[in-house]
Amino acid sequence: MAVPFLTLSDGNTIPQLGFGVFKVEPELTQGVVEEALAAGYRHIDTATGYHNEEAVGKAIRASGIPRESLFVTTKLSNVDHKSGDIRGAYERSLAWLDIDYIDLYLIHWPMPAQEKYLGAWEKLIEFKSEGLTKSIGVSNFQVSQLQHIIEATGVAPVVDQVELHPLFQQKELLTYLDTKDVTVETWGPLGQGRWDLSAYPALTDAAIAHRKTPAQVILRWHIQTGHITIPKTTHRERMDENIDIFDFELNADEMKAIAALDTGKRLGGNPDDVNG
Ligand code: NAD
Repeated sequence: MAVPFLTLSDGNTIPQLGFGVFKVEPELTQGVVEEALAAGYRHIDTATGYHNEEAVGKAIRASGIPRESLFVTTKLSNVDHKSGDIRGAYERSLAWLDIDYIDLYLIHWPMPAQEKYLGAWEKLIEFKSEGLTKSIGVSNFQVSQLQHIIEATGVAPVVDQVELHPLFQQKELLTYLDTKDVTVETWGPLGQGRWDLSAYPALTDAAIAHRKTPAQVILRWHIQTGHITIPKTTHRERMDENIDIFDFELNADEMKAIAALDTGKRLGGNPDDVNG
């Protein structure tokens, strides 16, 4: 079954399930992305900081899939953000990817102690109005940083890409994002392989009931909560597994049981403390 699209606040559409390439080594990335495209993914999430934009672009061009059928996200690195050369960073990403345009450009981390994220956001607004990128958003922004950029510019990001999975559900942030029509995009959706997916009855019971795996149950939960999600794997069978989630539905009790797994604890760094 096909991956559904969500409509962002700027009117553009995005495949709700994408494919992330964090920590996919540059020399492996072209092959991995070609496999993901063959498995049916049409939305790829990369970043300058992953050092694999060039290989993502090569895979896209090699696939022969029309550019307009694909959705590509990349992100302003912390190094470029700190240097202040936001336009140069964007142009370098575009050159490495070599795919005519970027669908979604994100500020990777707010780095609040650097006090440069508002200036970076103003540059992204320029890129959008110049037609360089179709959509602009942020990543790892907390409520205070979102408030700051929205109040200062009047422009809300279309997405906030944040750590979110059953053990860390960000309920307060979600409430705020909802009021500003910012779509949530979840990174680390499967807990980055750092916890045992089969250790939670809320996941395994639903998996048994629907003849799916715990990973499929988690990804289905992300989809049913209305988020965009971008799981990563380098294995073809897991690519197939992770996209095979559109032929079943978790019921209200199953959704509630997963909601109850929240521990409030992150796997990654607190964005307020990531400043370089
Ligand atoms: P993830 O939750 O997608 O975990 C990936 C790991 O889960 C794999 O390495 C593998 O160990 C395991 N896995 C994958 N499929 C599985 C399956 N079917 N069954 C069992 N285990 C499975 O974590 P991630 O890669 O960190 O996050 C996804 C994407 O989000 C990244 O690739 C990247 O594009 C993005 N991301 C963004 C940020 C950010 O700061 N904006 C940070 C981290 C990741």
